[in-house]
Amino acid sequence: MVTIKKDVVCIGGGIMSVTLAKLIQELDPNINITIYEKLSSCALESTQSINNAGTGHAGFCELNYTPLNKRKEVNIERALKINREFEVSLQFWSFLARKYKAFKPKSFITQVPHISFVKGEKDISFLKKRYEALSKTLSFKGMEFSRNKETIKKWAPLIDVKSKDEVAMTKYEYGSDVDFESLSHEMLKILSKSKKFSVHTDNEIKSISQKKDQTWNIKIFNIKTKDTFLVNAKFIFIGAGGSTIHLLQKVTLKIK
Ligand SMILES: Cc1cc2nc3c(=O)[nH]c(=O)nc-3n(C[C@H](O)[C@H](O)[C@H](O)COP(=O)(O)OP(=O)(O)OC[C@H]3O[C@@H](n4cnc5c(N)ncnc54)[C@H](O)[C@@H]3O)c2cc1C
Repeated sequence: MVTIKKDVVCIGGGIMSVTLAKLIQELDPNINITIYEKLSSCALESTQSINNAGTGHAGFCELNYTPLNKRKEVNIERALKINREFEVSLQFWSFLARKYKAFKPKSFITQVPHISFVKGEKDISFLKKRYEALSKTLSFKGMEFSRNKETIKKWAPLIDVKSKDEVAMTKYEYGSDVDFESLSHEMLKILSKSKKFSVHTDNEIKSISQKKDQTWNIKIFNIKTKDTFLVNAKFIFIGAGGSTIHLLQKVTLKIK
């Protein structure tokens, strides 16, 4: 069996592998990076736009990021952390947009207000506490809260609010809608400008094992030609979405 040598192999062609590949390429353009994807194109699984809600998770509307603690106070630490992480993604995309003319943010990111809507006194009290805690911070400054049905109708015209309902809403104007499928293709476009990068679709990773020298042997099946071949890589990243756990379970490690 022919063995192909690589520096980095990313398994799966979703947003995670593509992002990591681009980060590595920016850090060192001489590193040889290859993505192997089992489907006929990249970004067709969870990353495909039809398969996820597409909110850029920044903690503006996700109520589960601000749980109540034992003293019934809202803990905002997780929302702040996620918000900071999303800011880093925004900075990375804006860096790429400045560096590469071909990388077009308009094709994958749109400004969309993020709203949270609740009914009933218990949830209204929670939303108000959440709003009071978050809006004091710099990251969430400008968040709005309302119990007024007219305001809520204006913010979210498609929500049917009955006159008997007790309701509340928060709105943060500068939320984002992110099309991760288009983003993946934008990044693949600029990644592919380098001869040190390649992406191979219709190639399924069957098994991974670590050699004594700490490099990795990856057994790959080409779905079109029905050939099986071996790739040896210094580093691997398993970005196989839901299949990651199955691949990890198959990994053979050489422990000294
Ligand atoms: C219903 C739903 C809603 C979501 N909403 C949001 C949201 O609003 N905001 C948000 O930020 N995130 C959201 N997510 C999460 C987001 O979509 C995922 O976290 C992200 O797309 C995962 O990307 P990934 O690259 O890890 O995986 P994937 O996109 O699944 O990519 C994995 C790739 O690996 C390939 N692969 C698998 N096994 C192998 C193998 N053996 N050999 C070669 N290739 C292989 C697959 O074909 C696939 O292309 C949502 C997810 C779901 C399911």
